[in-house]
Amino acid sequence: ETLEAGWNFDNSYTRLPKSFYSSTNPTPVREPKLIKLNHQLGESLGLNVDALQGEEGLSVFAGNKIPGGASPLAQAYAGHQFGHFNMLGDGRAVLLGEQITPEDERFDIQLKGSGRTPYSRGGDGRATLGPMLREYIISEAMYALGIPTTRSLAVVSTGETVIRETNLPGAILTRVAASHLRVGTFQYAAGKGDVEELKALADYTIKRHFPYIEADGNKYLSLLKEVMKRQAELIAKWQLVGFIHGVMNTDNVAISGETIDYGPCAFMDIYHPATVFSSIDREGRYAYGNQPGISGWNLARFAESLLPLLHEDEEQAIHLAQEEISGYMDMYHSNWIAGMRAKLGIFNEENEDESLFKDLLSLMEKHRADYTNTFRALTFENHKDLVLFSTPEFEQWYKKYSARLERQQESKESSIELMRKSNPGVIPRNHRVEEALEAAVEQGDYSVMERLLAVLASPYEHSPEQAEYCTLPEPSTRPYRTFC
Ligand code: AMP
Ligand code: MG
Ligand code: MG
Repeated sequence: ETLEAGWNFDNSYTRLPKSFYSSTNPTPVREPKLIKLNHQLGESLGLNVDALQGEEGLSVFAGNKIPGGASPLAQAYAGHQFGHFNMLGDGRAVLLGEQITPEDERFDIQLKGSGRTPYSRGGDGRATLGPMLREYIISEAMYALGIPTTRSLAVVSTGETVIRETNLPGAILTRVAASHLRVGTFQYAAGKGDVEELKALADYTIKRHFPYIEADGNKYLSLLKEVMKRQAELIAKWQLVGFIHGVMNTDNVAISGETIDYGPCAFMDIYHPATVFSSIDREGRYAYGNQPGISGWNLARFAESLLPLLHEDEEQAIHLAQEEISGYMDMYHSNWIAGMRAKLGIFNEENEDESLFKDLLSLMEKHRADYTNTFRALTFENHKDLVLFSTPEFEQWYKKYSARLERQQESKESSIELMRKSNPGVIPRNHRVEEALEAAVEQGDYSVMERLLAVLASPYEHSPEQAEYCTLPEPSTRPYRTFC
């Protein structure tokens, strides 16, 4: 007897105009094995974890069985990839449907690496084990850090070989998202030039993510505003933890404001605005320090695709869009400033705060200080281990900073409390992630990954177990590089 998994699908995406998707089943795989299951996430989705762990879960996660109520499809979208516009679409993913949770929330359940679709172009539609486990680790770490993100429900290996530079084990990730609507989905609709379809997409998006703007005078302008707000919050959070997405193409910008598409992303150790890890980002378009500006550029593409809905007169529409978009960098900046205040235990606002933050970052850059550990050391007033802290320049800065703290009403204790909540003790450092993946993929030893996941699950607890995950990698002659 098979256990009921608790799938409770709706398929609202299939009620959009047909051009937005292709009904596509996943391609069955030969010999699937469950590698990793997210129990806590499964439960919160209203799923039965025992069923997910058994034959029932495995066959669904592998794409070998379509669960009742699901209506699998690949989504159509477009996107600017490194600045160049392309028609794209899910080339290696299918949306099974939207799971309606016991709390009546709606989440996309997507299989990534599930075989070819009408949008695969030359690709094989498959994914490999290392990168799917990497997405699992980093997306779950982001969730624990309090950063909006898609999540990872399960990883299965397929028992099939995927041909890349070498032969690699195939895998499928089950990704959970508020939705997979992207800036690129709007670019796709706008590119086709059918205003009725664009309107259907915008109305769908408003209903799904922003129902509170439905009655606004110009709800499409409100849509632009709301998407900008969520991106401003998201990118500020990335900057505040030192996260580098690596491939901020417009097809990888989720309308929901979640981080999506964990390809070449990585966390920065030593602070430097020019930090880039992605092997394909040769010009540093998506470098750490460029992320806020690029997100503004991406939102301008979003605004452009909304133009036909903003006003019937094109010039007026452009005027409205420009006026809105011109406020983006300030929006981002105020989120970042607020976040930096919290990281430094500051409650009230002073005009000089920004220069205090920028001075600290300049010193970190000059003395090659680790970003996370600098804030951690400030939180715990543990100044011994960092070279930066023994410099006269830092002493001067610290005097200013101490005086700043004394000028506020709140006690030193509440400052420290705020800093503990705002500065993670641990992030998924590249060398620890690589070590976990190597053990898993090359030795079939998942214990290293399990230990890493356990520590990453509570970054703000500042437990003794974190200590060993705070150390930097051995100096290397080769820079760390990530791949899509
Ligand atoms: P990404 O760089 O991950 O955002 O992917 C860009 C586009 O390439 C998306 O349309 C993907 O679906 C597609 N794509 C990536 N890998 C593959 C693959 N192995 N087979 C088919 N399409 C792929
Ligand atoms: Mg993508
Ligand atoms: Mg990708």
